[in-house]
Amino acid sequence: MTPKHTRRNFLLASSATVIGASAGVGARGQRFKVNLVEAEQRLDPPSSPVCISSGNGLRAVERAHARILAGDDTALAVVNGVGIVEADPKDMSVGYGGLPNENGVVQLDASVMHGPTHKAGSVGAIEDIMHPAAVALKVLQTTDHVMIVGRGAYEFARVHGFKKEDLLTDKARQAWARWKQNRSNRDDWLNRDEMDWSSDGTRVGLGDQNNEPVPFTYGTIHCAAVNPKGDVSACTTTSGLSYKIPGRVGDSPIIGAGMYVDNEIGAAGATGRGEAVVQSCGAFAVTQAMAAGMEPTQACLHVLKKIVSNSTKQRRLMRENGKPSFNVIMYALRKDGVHGSAAMFPNATYTVADGQGARSLKCAVLFE
Ligand code: ASP
Repeated sequence: MTPKHTRRNFLLASSATVIGASAGVGARGQRFKVNLVEAEQRLDPPSSPVCISSGNGLRAVERAHARILAGDDTALAVVNGVGIVEADPKDMSVGYGGLPNENGVVQLDASVMHGPTHKAGSVGAIEDIMHPAAVALKVLQTTDHVMIVGRGAYEFARVHGFKKEDLLTDKARQAWARWKQNRSNRDDWLNRDEMDWSSDGTRVGLGDQNNEPVPFTYGTIHCAAVNPKGDVSACTTTSGLSYKIPGRVGDSPIIGAGMYVDNEIGAAGATGRGEAVVQSCGAFAVTQAMAAGMEPTQACLHVLKKIVSNSTKQRRLMRENGKPSFNVIMYALRKDGVHGSAAMFPNATYTVADGQGARSLKCAVLFE
């Protein structure tokens, strides 16, 4: 094989074509091609491990980084790192203490992906198990499947020795009780005038604009790592949208939406409105933008713009000022250790651990 036809060159070239074509501008395609050459020259692994996480993941990146230095595989390290936050009742967006669904039941979603084998595992709407990311890792390691959901995921976890635990803390139960008491129309069931389509598939008339911000609590932890061999892994774990319809699965356990790894390129993840991320294949799109030569932060911003343009076709998701009524944050870690993150709105942070220690950084912003 000549260098021109290595697997990586093939991947980079094919993604450039797709993205260039979707932009529909020949001249842009040209620019991507120039960037491809630059990207190939840059993608050597970092000399020491680099781990990134969402803003709530400072302890997770510290732990993941330490585990990699101690010899752990990157997938094991990121799952171990997020385990700290899954077990922390103070974080009401992940694992134990996470806010429950409409019925007061905590249902968790998680996924993990291992770059060197390009294998993924995930669980959706799992109950009574504190560490869904570790269960997702078991799916990856011990089955030929990618995703196991609901009761099946719980039973699978029990087979692997995970303990049955009550995940609903008093604080989360009280928050749910307050929501239930005051809920009025603050739920996920669309009113007739909020629907873009009626249940029989007939287009619904415009009705009244509803520009209320989406009134729910989001929160999740994403964590990605690359080691000096250039092995990349990532995971995302969450209790999902609070007070969701029972059985609702967000973007976090969906490979390519809330998390994705391509060992030739890097990793990406998302937090925020899962429905918007799923409908734009967010994490996959970020890795493809990096493959096309964009810097990680630029790749995140590029995908956020696409998410906005796709999502705001649903008029209830748009405010009068033309901005979306929800937030999404994208995270990107390239194979060479360069990282970035971008949010739709100001004040979001992400975390990193590398040779210089663990710290929080500001996310780039789409709408200042
Ligand atoms: N993305 C998660 C979900 O939609 C929630 C979040 O990140 O805040 O389930």
